[in-house]
Amino acid sequence: MTSKNAKKCPKCGSLDIEVSRTWNLVSPLPDKAGRITVTVMGVFKCRNCGYSWKGTVSKIKVGGGVEIEGKQEILDERPPKEIVLDLDEILKEE
Ligand SMILES: [Zn+2]
Repeated sequence: MTSKNAKKCPKCGSLDIEVSRTWNLVSPLPDKAGRITVTVMGVFKCRNCGYSWKGTVSKIKVGGGVEIEGKQEILDERPPKEIVLDLDEILKEE
């Protein structure tokens, strides 16, 4: 199983995980290509043992010279390009 979207309970290893809450962190600075990185954070909960933890759901890069007509929405519906779990980053958010 190499599904990038699969989350696993760090406590019991169960894959029966739900995301109870998500929020977006938007990088204030664009990267070299002019894209903004939007990190989608989430609170995960294991349905098996009840353990819950925070993690990165996905990182989405948007923009890069593409004008979004009439909208200032940063998040669009394109699929995430990176799935990164970074504990240091998560801890900084607290
Ligand atoms: Zn569990």
